[in-house]
This record gives sequence, structure tokens and C-alpha cells, in this order.
Amino acid sequence: MIIKIVAAFLVFMVVMGAIQKWLNPKHKTPLDRLRATRLPRPRKCKRCGKFLLGKDDCTCSGKG
Ligand SMILES: [Zn+2]
Repeated sequence: MIIKIVAAFLVFMVVMGAIQKWLNPKHKTPLDRLRATRLPRPRKCKRCGKFLLGKDDCTCSGKG
């Protein structure tokens, strides 16, 4: 039952965002903000070429 409520809520949010955008094109909906937020480019380790997740350094650094 909760899944139905969550789904209905999401649909409601999308519809509301669409209506707000239709009424006021300059209005930024949370969806727009989400779209504008681009994921940072994946960093690669300079030593081994492994993709780095987050801000942590590669595990190879410091080991040689
Ligand atoms: Zn590395």
C-alpha cells in the first residue's frame, strides 16, 4: 500500500512541476534543479587509471 502512496506522490510532484512550469516557465521545479545538477566527471587515478569514487584517493596511492 505504501508503494502506491509513494508512486501517487511522485506522479503528483511531476504533474505539479509540469503545471508550474506551464504557468510560469521561469519557475524552477525540483526536477529542473535535479536535471541541472550534473554529476561530476569521474576521476581517474593518475597512477593506475582506476576510476575514483567520491573524494577518496585511490587505494594504490601511498602503497608505492
Ligand atoms: Zn590508483
